[in-house]
Amino acid sequence: MPLAHGRPYLAIPGPSVAPDRVLQAMHRPSPNIYAGELPDLTASLVPDLKAVAKTNGHVAMYIGNGHAAWEASLANVLAPGDLALALPTGRFGHGWAEMARRIGIEVDVIDFGNHADVDLDRVEAALRADTEGRIKAVLAVQVDTSTSVKNDIAGLRQVLDAVGHDALLMVDSIACLGVDEMQMDAWGVDICVTGSQKGLMTPPGMAFVFFNDKAAQVRAKMERVSSYWDWTPRAHPEEFFQYFFGTAPTHHIYGLREALNMLVHEEGVEAAWTRHAVLARAVWAAFDVWAHPQGLALNIKDPAKRSNAVTSASAPAPKATELREFMEREIGVTLGIGIGMAAGAHDPAWHGYFRIGHMGHVNPHMLLGVLGGMEAGLQALAIPHQPGGVSAAASVIAEATA
Ligand SMILES: *Cc1c(COP(=O)(O)O)cnc(C)c1O
Repeated sequence: MPLAHGRPYLAIPGPSVAPDRVLQAMHRPSPNIYAGELPDLTASLVPDLKAVAKTNGHVAMYIGNGHAAWEASLANVLAPGDLALALPTGRFGHGWAEMARRIGIEVDVIDFGNHADVDLDRVEAALRADTEGRIKAVLAVQVDTSTSVKNDIAGLRQVLDAVGHDALLMVDSIACLGVDEMQMDAWGVDICVTGSQKGLMTPPGMAFVFFNDKAAQVRAKMERVSSYWDWTPRAHPEEFFQYFFGTAPTHHIYGLREALNMLVHEEGVEAAWTRHAVLARAVWAAFDVWAHPQGLALNIKDPAKRSNAVTSASAPAPKATELREFMEREIGVTLGIGIGMAAGAHDPAWHGYFRIGHMGHVNPHMLLGVLGGMEAGLQALAIPHQPGGVSAAASVIAEATA
């Protein structure tokens, strides 16, 4: 007699929950793509997207997912044979580096593992060793969604400046734009990429590449850039067709317009960062109570290095999988699987991980529901734990609202 009737909740780290308002905005007949309101509606997205990334630079929009944003960014500034320095702190950092290699870019990798953030001293040493200035770009992931670690992007800029290195700072903020603080201009990020389906609360299908003038100059000097990924006409279209180089993602434009109304014009980007910080602290407070050597553990030990968008945690295999299955069957909540946490897919450490997405359209009742369901699961599955995690989470909410 499974209990999970009622509205299901997908608590995986992307796609995130699409607000009803976004879904309703998308529920319409196909609009004309040659005239009517669509061109103006599309143009109106640009300043609001820039407001989320905190940049006065440029933004190019694509029909695609996060992988499309990865390739678009690489294709504009790196040619085959150019060297990039990748700084993976989890599966997604490796993924971006592997994609760069597959399109002929040479990539040096400093692997920081699955449990720590980027060590700025090691980055500094690598940049200092590059006396010939061969490194054209540094590829960093702000929040690696597999490990839930948050990297110090402003710190990376300081290292580049201290060394006097000219490489572009390229940042994957796909997991966390609109969730964890991003100050693209103030932090000196040259290129920032994201997708529609996480902090931007819109179904997967749109990808965004923000870039500054320095990156635009690098692009201008490229001998040849893939015509489809070229960001120049997309960021500065002379006609509507050039925004998307073909048919526009009509319904996504309506959905994203509504999502940006909510995020930028109603809640406010800074307020959204604060909300996510409170909700993330509530999650961690529950885990701190539950923590047990034979039970649950957070992947990132230092709270200052955890993302507010996603939490990666472990339980001895097969308990993590059993807990996810319990949540889906009895609670109506789908948690995220662990990804990339060990070399082999059959390694028990891989199966011992799971993730909670808490990005985007999330509020305390949703998150307390997830945590309450988990506490029921810990008891039902006899996973060793200290009860009271939900009360601890509720206290975080209470204190934040006091
Ligand atoms: C989700 C995500 C990606 C990949 O995005 P897709 O839409 O699945 O292609 C890349 N990097 C990070 C940090 C992500 O969170």
